[in-house]
Amino acid sequence: FELEQLGVHESVDAVFPPAELAAYLADLPIDVAVIDDDDIADCDAVVTMEHREAFLEVDWVHSIQAGVDRFPFDAFEDRGVVLTNSTGIHDRTVGETVAGYLLLFARRLHDHVANQQERRWDRPAWDEAFTLPGSTACVVGTGTLGRGVAETLGGLGVRVTGVRRSGEPVPGFDEIHANDRLLEAIADAEFVVVTVPLTDETRHLFDAEAFAAMREDAYFVNVARGAVVDEPALIDALEADALAGAALDVFEEEPLPADSPLWGMDEVIVSPHCAAYTRDYFRDTGDIVRENVDRLADGEPFHNRVV
Ligand code: NAD
Repeated sequence: FELEQLGVHESVDAVFPPAELAAYLADLPIDVAVIDDDDIADCDAVVTMEHREAFLEVDWVHSIQAGVDRFPFDAFEDRGVVLTNSTGIHDRTVGETVAGYLLLFARRLHDHVANQQERRWDRPAWDEAFTLPGSTACVVGTGTLGRGVAETLGGLGVRVTGVRRSGEPVPGFDEIHANDRLLEAIADAEFVVVTVPLTDETRHLFDAEAFAAMREDAYFVNVARGAVVDEPALIDALEADALAGAALDVFEEEPLPADSPLWGMDEVIVSPHCAAYTRDYFRDTGDIVRENVDRLADGEPFHNRVV
């Protein structure tokens, strides 16, 4: 198809100002403009956060997120709409966020922040604080996020194991297990970190059985998608002290409802789906868009094509 008009949909505003991305791409040999829902029909391609039915009329949709579970793949395929995503850029951001969660728990920093709100001078019990070297983190999913987490935690002296479908080794991981050994792999770790996409196969992968397999002193970290976890089963495990705690960036319902018990748990860190945030996000995404505009012009296949 011929690309003349690229729209930056206003929904990207959840992550960065749309005008920043439009300005960053202004030197491309096509028209790039910030658009709202009324302008979609004028575009050949859109860069977006959310899905709109009107996108079925354009030729190419680029998701500024790595996860594309919100887009209807079958409808895109039927209408011949190309879908590309932003995987490949969230390794260091999410890796550092996960390292932050682990350091908060190990060094009890979350307790200090909570105590400070109450102007309370209260030290941890003698046996609460620990250091990370010698602990094991099991990272489930060894794509961009998983590798970024492994590299960042490895730098902190954590032993990192991974779970992937093939069970083949991955650089940065001390040991890899195949999917059919998930329960054994997580049973062996002080930290379990979820980095798989949400698919039919991974929906509720972490259920009561998985939480029962984990150590009672283990922390659970989800930076993938909320529905990879059976959230009521996680809440039950936390309330029963069958886990030490959890750091959660994603939830079955977002925003996390005000009445969720997760908000009030001392050993739970809630962040509002922003593990990959960085002031460079529009540049990182823009570079993928730019590369694909070039590839389209050269008749080469799209980078990060999903549909
Ligand atoms: P990616 O495509 O680079 O990696 C995903 C990996 O998961 C791939 O290696 C794939 O083979 C593997 N995988 C898929 N299904 C699997 C299964 N059933 N069992 C084991 N492994 C499986 O994607 P990414 O950039 O690493 O992102 C992964 C997911 O994380 C995204 O789909 C998105 O949902 C989520 N994400 C969340 C945030 C956030 O802000 N919290 C940011 C980026 C991505």
